[in-house]
Amino acid sequence: MDVSEPTAEQLQTRTANCKTHGDFESRAITLPTLGNKPGKPAKVIWSKCPACARETAEREATAKRTEQEQARQQRIEDRLNRAGIPKRFRECSFENYVADSDAKRHALSTAREFAENFPEHARRGSTLVFAGNVGTGKVHLAMSIAQHIIGQGHSAFFATAREIVLMLRARWDDRTAPSELEVLRMLTKVSLLVIDEIGIQFNTDAERDQLFGVIDGRYRELMPTIVTANLSRKALQQTIGERSYSRLREEGNWVPFDWEDFRGQKRIGR
Ligand SMILES: [Zn+2]
Repeated sequence: MDVSEPTAEQLQTRTANCKTHGDFESRAITLPTLGNKPGKPAKVIWSKCPACARETAEREATAKRTEQEQARQQRIEDRLNRAGIPKRFRECSFENYVADSDAKRHALSTAREFAENFPEHARRGSTLVFAGNVGTGKVHLAMSIAQHIIGQGHSAFFATAREIVLMLRARWDDRTAPSELEVLRMLTKVSLLVIDEIGIQFNTDAERDQLFGVIDGRYRELMPTIVTANLSRKALQQTIGERSYSRLREEGNWVPFDWEDFRGQKRIGR
């Protein structure tokens, strides 16, 4: 490589004009003269508009970022689809939950804390029980947690207690459906399971045992679970049975939603 002082020619500049950016100083760039015969003039090119070059680089960087962001959104969307989160709950977030009373603020901050410290809750296998009437925003906050952790790369699955029982016994009617063991394994492995609408009395002890299998499986594996129920503690205990109840019971995890209904809140989901 030529390390000698730049020649006068290499230091040459001239004023050039860009249609967009106007006049700029163009530098002469001497290309390497590989295999050139001595005496043959070196090839010189002139530098282009630096503002144009900067804009092109920025445009390319933005396009790349947009593409990466779209791919990320698509992965999240795919996970949400697999997570069983119904479309009408997809717009639920902590930001659009209206907390206009102390009880609602408590519910919101509990939910937010759970989502933001999810790795710690996953380590401990925490549970949350959202208890209260229909229309009080239990599902809204449970979905906000699920979507937050999905955005962080965790998995979540949402189903009503009834749907879980039906999934577990799907093989009874359809030999091609996943077996009870396969469903149980899936429900135990997912980072967060949200069991909605516990409170409808189970038809049989067998159904109650099946739900216990799911709750107990997650308890044993230290996997976090959120349940929503339209019941008092005592009624929940009676409905799901003492065994399941003892798996869900934990200090400070009972979150009361004991107001009447959304008031003046944009109604999302239920
Ligand atoms: Zn330019």
